[in-house]
Amino acid sequence: MVREILTLGNPQLYEVSDPVTEEDKEALSGWITDLHDTLMAYRKTYGAGRAVAAPQIGVKKRLLYMYLDRPYVFVNPRLTFPDGEKYTLLDDCMSFPGLCVRVERYKRAVIHYQDQEFREQEMALEGDLSELLQHEYDHLDGVLATMRAVDNKSLFLMQMKRDF
Ligand SMILES: [Zn+2]
Repeated sequence: MVREILTLGNPQLYEVSDPVTEEDKEALSGWITDLHDTLMAYRKTYGAGRAVAAPQIGVKKRLLYMYLDRPYVFVNPRLTFPDGEKYTLLDDCMSFPGLCVRVERYKRAVIHYQDQEFREQEMALEGDLSELLQHEYDHLDGVLATMRAVDNKSLFLMQMKRDF
């Protein structure tokens, strides 16, 4: 089901999400379906959007969904950084379409997570994927890209790509 995406300023976006537990196992597949449907609907409207975090659709759980060549589900993710190398980039977010923020992120990261069967997994990330999942992970801690702006002149309002 396509869910409403909470937008910048909604207090729920600033909350710290709860771990997904075995008790959530039944609800989990429904949340994943909703995250998928919502991401695809957003892509159709805005022509962008690679991943979404559960709290963005009002589910206060540590769950991320990404769709590239195939779906990726990250349950209870944790990030580590193999080295300290950082870079700056323009970031955007489905919770504030049209707004870009210059942020600093780690160039490389490792995401440790559980799959839908609660098996431990990990994936090495670099560049685009690294910054994307740092962005999504932040949502689980109630942190938005706007809060990571490198300075107070690093917010840019872009022309929104939208078909009316
Ligand atoms: Zn976001």
